[in-house]
Amino acid sequence: MQNFFNKNNKNTHKNDSLQGMKNIVLFGPPGAGKGTQAEVLKEKYQLVHISTGDVFRFNIKNKTELGTLAKSYMDKGHLVPDEVTINMLNAEVDKNADANGFIFDGFPRTAAQAEALASLMKEKNSQINAMVALEVDDEILVQRLLERGKSSGRADDANEAVIRERIAEYYRKTDILKQYYMAQSKYHGVDGVGSIEEITERLSNVIDTL
Ligand code: AMP
Repeated sequence: MQNFFNKNNKNTHKNDSLQGMKNIVLFGPPGAGKGTQAEVLKEKYQLVHISTGDVFRFNIKNKTELGTLAKSYMDKGHLVPDEVTINMLNAEVDKNADANGFIFDGFPRTAAQAEALASLMKEKNSQINAMVALEVDDEILVQRLLERGKSSGRADDANEAVIRERIAEYYRKTDILKQYYMAQSKYHGVDGVGSIEEITERLSNVIDTL
């Protein structure tokens, strides 16, 4: 298998490998099902799954400085500042230098993050192939997150006001990324309501065309 980060690709099959590589942004508001689907898709397509929310929660659990900082935003339903999030994401990508490709879950969430991701991929001689978005009505999101909160142990799932703030933050800062990827003809919307298997099939129908 070709090394993802090998820039000296002359006289190798690197180009074939790059063309076959898939870097996907799995997109959607909180509660759309990104994490659930990413877990299935990473196995199916042999991709590395990076969830910025999971990395923050890991840091909170381990009481790191990053975790303490992130928690102060997450508990209110607000986004963690871009600089912190982008540095963390860059480090996570670098930890997986031999990946076939990535599923980014919960990143990018702002225009600055989308620009940073494009630069990072370019640096690695690669690109984002597609944004695949799970589309779900807001009231269904609230109900799903309240339900998840009964067992997730997540402080930000336990309180309806925080859930609604997370959705508001999505519309304030994140929803515009649809336009960013549409302008590059990379946006694919998928109905995010149905069984896990049905939704995986809808997502796979898009990913198989990439
Ligand atoms: P998630 O697990 O994706 O629902 O994220 C949980 C929380 O982590 C969010 O509400 C944010 O506070 C924080 N977070 C996760 N990803 C990002 C990101 N890309 N930018 C800023 N904050 C983030």
